[in-house]
Amino acid sequence: MTHPLSQLYYLDQALLRIERKMAQTPGSLDEIALEEKKLVEDEKRRREELEELGKLIRKMEREGDDIRERIRRGKEKMKELMPVHAAEILQRETGNFEANLEALELEILENMEILESSEREVQLRQQSVAARKIELERESANLRKENDEYSSDRDRMAEQRERFLSELDLGLRRRYMSIFKGLGYTSIAAVGEGACMGCGARLTPQRAVDIQEGGELGSCQGCGRLLIGVEA
Ligand SMILES: [Zn+2]
Repeated sequence: MTHPLSQLYYLDQALLRIERKMAQTPGSLDEIALEEKKLVEDEKRRREELEELGKLIRKMEREGDDIRERIRRGKEKMKELMPVHAAEILQRETGNFEANLEALELEILENMEILESSEREVQLRQQSVAARKIELERESANLRKENDEYSSDRDRMAEQRERFLSELDLGLRRRYMSIFKGLGYTSIAAVGEGACMGCGARLTPQRAVDIQEGGELGSCQGCGRLLIGVEA
C-alpha cells in the first residue's frame, strides 16, 4: 500500500533527475565550443607556417637571381678583359658564385619538397577537421534539442506538482514545504529494507512495516524527510 504522497515523491524524483541532466548541458556545450575553437586556431597556425615557408623560398629564389646576375656580369667582364691574370681572378670568383648558386638551388629544392608535403598534410588535416566540425555541430544541436525536451518535460511535471500541492491537505502541505526549503526535491524519501533511503537511518521493524506495508506516513529521525512506502 502506498501513501498518496507517493505521487509527489515520484514527481520530485523525476524533476531532480531532469534538473541534474539539464545542469550538465551548459558545460557540455562549452566543451564543444572550446574544441571547435582549438580546431580553428590549429588550422590557422598551420596555414601561417606554410606561408612563412613559401616566403622563405621566394626570398631564396631572389637571392639565386641575384647570384645568377653576378655570374652573368662576371662572364661579360671576362670577355672584355685582356690580361690573363685578371681574367683568372674573375674566373675564380665566378666559380665561387656558381658553387654558391648550386648550394642555394639545392636548398630551395629541399624547402619546396617540405612545402609540398606540408601542404598535402594540411589538406588532409583540413578534411578531418571539417568532418569533426560537422560532428561537433551535430552534437551541440542534439544537446540543445535534448535540453528543450527536458525543459518542456520539467515544465509539465512542475505544473502537475503545483496542482498536486494545491489539492493537498493544508497541514501536510505546510510540513512538506518547510522540509522542501532545506532538502528540495529530496524532501520525501522511500523506505527500503527497513531504512530511510534518503540518509540510511534505520527504523524500528514495526515502523518500517507500518510505512512500507500499512501505507502510513513517517518522518525520519536521521534527516527529517517524510517517509513513504513505495512499490519496489
Ligand atoms: Zn533519513
